[in-house]
Amino acid sequence: MTAVVSSLESGDVIYAEENLYGCTFRLFEQVFRKFQVSIAYIDFSKVENIEQIYLGAPRLIWLESPTNPLLKVLDIRKIAAAAERVSAEVLVDNTFASSYCQKPLALGATLSLSSTTKYLNGHSDCLGGVVCTNNSQWQDRLVFAQKALGLNPAPFDSWLTSRGIKTLALRMERHQENALEVAYYLQGREDLPLVRYPFMPSHPQYDIARSQMSGGSGIVTADFGLSLNETLARLEQLSLFTLAESLGGVESLVCHPASMTHAAVPAELRQKIGITDSLVRFSVGVEAAKDLVADIAQAFPRQNRRRDEKLSAPASISL
Ligand SMILES: *Cc1c(COP(=O)(O)O)cnc(C)c1O
Repeated sequence: MTAVVSSLESGDVIYAEENLYGCTFRLFEQVFRKFQVSIAYIDFSKVENIEQIYLGAPRLIWLESPTNPLLKVLDIRKIAAAAERVSAEVLVDNTFASSYCQKPLALGATLSLSSTTKYLNGHSDCLGGVVCTNNSQWQDRLVFAQKALGLNPAPFDSWLTSRGIKTLALRMERHQENALEVAYYLQGREDLPLVRYPFMPSHPQYDIARSQMSGGSGIVTADFGLSLNETLARLEQLSLFTLAESLGGVESLVCHPASMTHAAVPAELRQKIGITDSLVRFSVGVEAAKDLVADIAQAFPRQNRRRDEKLSAPASISL
């Protein structure tokens, strides 16, 4: 991210998807804004907002798909076509899909970025990131930034990551098989205000997901409709899902975005985009699916109500 944004000029404008990973938002707001790179946040799942691209003069369109944590799926082909008409370039943060499930450059993006900390390495034992491009000017800029800014991974981290990538395909197949089981279990309970998984037909952008991803990846997001304190207490009851930041490792993790990964996003913006206090993000690992479902069932007992009676999902949820 630093390599990409430091290659821009002061005065450049980024149009960013409004549901960004919290630390991307923090980097934009607390670092790059100081250097007069301005960022506008847009809900790119709305077709009328894709048209806003014509109204301004963005240098870069910054997407995440599926998004963290709401799993919004953005139409990368359509956005890239709109960007091309105003000579803007598209970057996709591909961390959630991984390059196994989605190939942003083939869909029209110029830059495809991933945290290797997540699925690419897959073993939760080192931090890193990669940005890929098919544009030689960007290639030169990124190599320069790497050299000038010291953005070089350590040799041992590189070794760990290349060890991890060897099993990416095997892991992703199992992650998505397990995630689908968890998603159908949660959906079938009918007491949750929101269950999201890109490859479940109830997902609002299911058709787009099917057209641009080869699988749904391993994250399931659900809103249990509980209070903040009750949600946090129930998360402590999980035993196979460890309550921790990060995702995409072989071992299942669970995260409470409002207090963890997205705590840097102001409460008002969190509310607007649907990151409620009762939202839970499951990074479904490669354990036995039935054990994972049983763990969720014991920690979050079924509540005595049906989805349509629901309370806590905000009316404005823009999925
Ligand atoms: C975690 C994450 C990052 C940042 O990755 P680190 O390797 O933890 O710095 C970027 N984008 C998304 C979508 C993420 O989930």
